[in-house]
Amino acid sequence: MAVGDPPLTLGDLSEIPVGRLRGVGDKKSKALAGQEIVSVLDLLQHYPRRYLDRTRQARIEELEVGEEATVLGEVRRVSSRRIRNRRTLTNVEFGDGTGRLSLTFFNQPWRERQLSEGTQAIVYGKVELYRGRRQMSNPVVDLVGNRTGRIIPVYPQSQRAGLHTWDLASFIDEALARCRARGLADPVPGRVLDHFDFIDRQAAFNGIHHPESMPEQAEARRRLVFDELLRVQLELVRRKRRIERETAGVVHRVDGPLVEAFHQRLPFALTGAQLRTIDEMYSDMVLPRPMHRLLQGDVGSGKTVVAVTALLVAVQGGMQGALMVPTEVLAEQHHLAVTGMLADLSVADPSSLMGERPLRVELLVSRVGTADRRRILADLATGRVDIVIGTHALIQDRVEYRSLGMVVIDEQHRFGVEQRAALREKGETGAAPDVLVMTATPIPRTAAMTVYGDLDVSVLDELPPGRTPIDTIWARTDLEEVAVWADIRESVAEGRQAYVVCPLIDESESLDVRSAEETHARLAGEELAGLRVGLLHGRVAPDDKEETMSDFREGRIDVLVATTVIEVGVDVPNATIMVVLDAGRFGMAQLHQLRGRVGRGTHASRCYLVGDPATPDGAARIDALVASTDGFHLAEVDLGLRGEGTIMGERQKGRSDLKLASLRRDREWVESARSVAFEIIDSDPELDDHPGLRDEIDLLLAEDEADFLMKG
Ligand code: ADP
Ligand code: MG
Repeated sequence: MAVGDPPLTLGDLSEIPVGRLRGVGDKKSKALAGQEIVSVLDLLQHYPRRYLDRTRQARIEELEVGEEATVLGEVRRVSSRRIRNRRTLTNVEFGDGTGRLSLTFFNQPWRERQLSEGTQAIVYGKVELYRGRRQMSNPVVDLVGNRTGRIIPVYPQSQRAGLHTWDLASFIDEALARCRARGLADPVPGRVLDHFDFIDRQAAFNGIHHPESMPEQAEARRRLVFDELLRVQLELVRRKRRIERETAGVVHRVDGPLVEAFHQRLPFALTGAQLRTIDEMYSDMVLPRPMHRLLQGDVGSGKTVVAVTALLVAVQGGMQGALMVPTEVLAEQHHLAVTGMLADLSVADPSSLMGERPLRVELLVSRVGTADRRRILADLATGRVDIVIGTHALIQDRVEYRSLGMVVIDEQHRFGVEQRAALREKGETGAAPDVLVMTATPIPRTAAMTVYGDLDVSVLDELPPGRTPIDTIWARTDLEEVAVWADIRESVAEGRQAYVVCPLIDESESLDVRSAEETHARLAGEELAGLRVGLLHGRVAPDDKEETMSDFREGRIDVLVATTVIEVGVDVPNATIMVVLDAGRFGMAQLHQLRGRVGRGTHASRCYLVGDPATPDGAARIDALVASTDGFHLAEVDLGLRGEGTIMGERQKGRSDLKLASLRRDREWVESARSVAFEIIDSDPELDDHPGLRDEIDLLLAEDEADFLMKG
């Protein structure tokens, strides 16, 4: 290595095999490869699992019986003997100069080899008193070798492969030492480093592997976490901007008369959050590139008004709008709501006598007859239908639009690349319609930035005023469940209605899950005998489904027993009780959705979560729902319960270069990284002036992996 060689890049490090390090022979190389550590870069990115702070270790003479403690000491003597059933008992005499502690291990004969005389180790466990002596049984053992220093890193290691934490530590030390001569290149712009007061990369790698103090480790982690998040965001933002550059969109006129008339007719004033969201949307819609925005808003936050506003912007510009929903029940529901909101609005029509005609909204679902369907399709193609509502069938081949300017997608998280391509064909020659995706299952903002990194995100974080809060009650015991049915009977007597949700439609899956059909039969015959009890599930024919829904809407059914088909969108203000059976089996977001079906009118509403969950997580979810009605808060709790792996997908996380960063713990850094990414990409779209960063992205986020991130 000649003096004057340029600093080492991560790319350089990825090309140096670990075998080149002193002390790493064939055997250790193999063992490392087994841990997916092949290059020096892999090694440096093999971060400690935790740290032992020697200054906080207990001394044996101070140990209190009954407490858990961490002790650093040395093995004085080790012995094993056979006990009953051919099992072994290994006894280790352990000392630290202040006293003695005996460690016992049951049936772990290999401990005798691991803890040979003179071995330094750190043990962690509960201090017990046995025959007058202090001991720990089956403590956690970390071998630290003869490592010195106040803070000792503990690496993920493989006992079986003979790869110990001190091996890793010494290989990493060696690697760091070898980097020192040339230094590590730092591709992150100096002004960014200054702004966040970051240490340089070299110091960061040193500090994460070999900190002098825990604050130093924290500084190092902060820097490395930022680097990981910045790479991911740079890639997402680069792709987002590329799509925007390369796809022509519709330039909408946002200050037209139709939207104004619509807003004036609403019986309420828009909330601040609605106004802000509409503004955010407008700023996209006026640009000559397609909008691709995610609208997150809790149940009841008033997303429909925002959606209709978007559709009307297209219509007032002489184009068409489509509202896509996941189920036909929802499509019917939206159709009803939207036609109600837009009654007696007109659009310009030069061919008519008055120069205008009534605005036309149509529903396209399977129950629409052949003749009607043909007519609607024909009128969509000639532009006589302004807004169409339906399921994903709306973007299928057979549906032709004269000029589709705006698509709103309700309750669908993923809107894949293929679907986007299909949409592009529906727009006016070459111009892709704008897309607004809405969801009532919020995910934490920073997770959204990573998972939906190609979308812009708006948040409706304010509920319209005058809502009656929903009381959530956990009915855990049979006795408590009896009270639920009594409450329903009382409420129905007062003219209210109720939902009862069951997880499955028949008992094919498991015996303890109540079927909707059985529940319906039982409730109608026993607990709710005499009430009008309806049934709705996925296998009910579309016509019957709609009939049942309209019976319920119009009060001809008192209690609707249903599967989760009613999860989203159903809006019957007179329904004030939601009962979810076997609630522990539902996910948090789902329960929150279901609860959102009540509390829509002026009457006090209640949500009963019934059952005694089999898992602690199930109980924790119910506890959280009882404690809060804030969807965003619940999403955070859920992220905590499930771990972020489930949001990112384990595979995705593993492959997306996030080795240290946690979307939960490092929230603020996700935001910072994203705004830095925008700043960099907007002045240097393909990173030509930041070749170091570009190389790192190419190195660490392979093409298909970035695709994976985008699609989710
Ligand atoms: P979401 O789809 O977000 O769950 P909706 O759009 O269905 O919510 O709105 C829920 C209810 O709130 C509807 O009855 C709607 O008319 C009403 N609403 C919407 N915006 C407002 C507002 N700004 N003020 C008062 N009520 C509103
Ligand atoms: Mg809605």
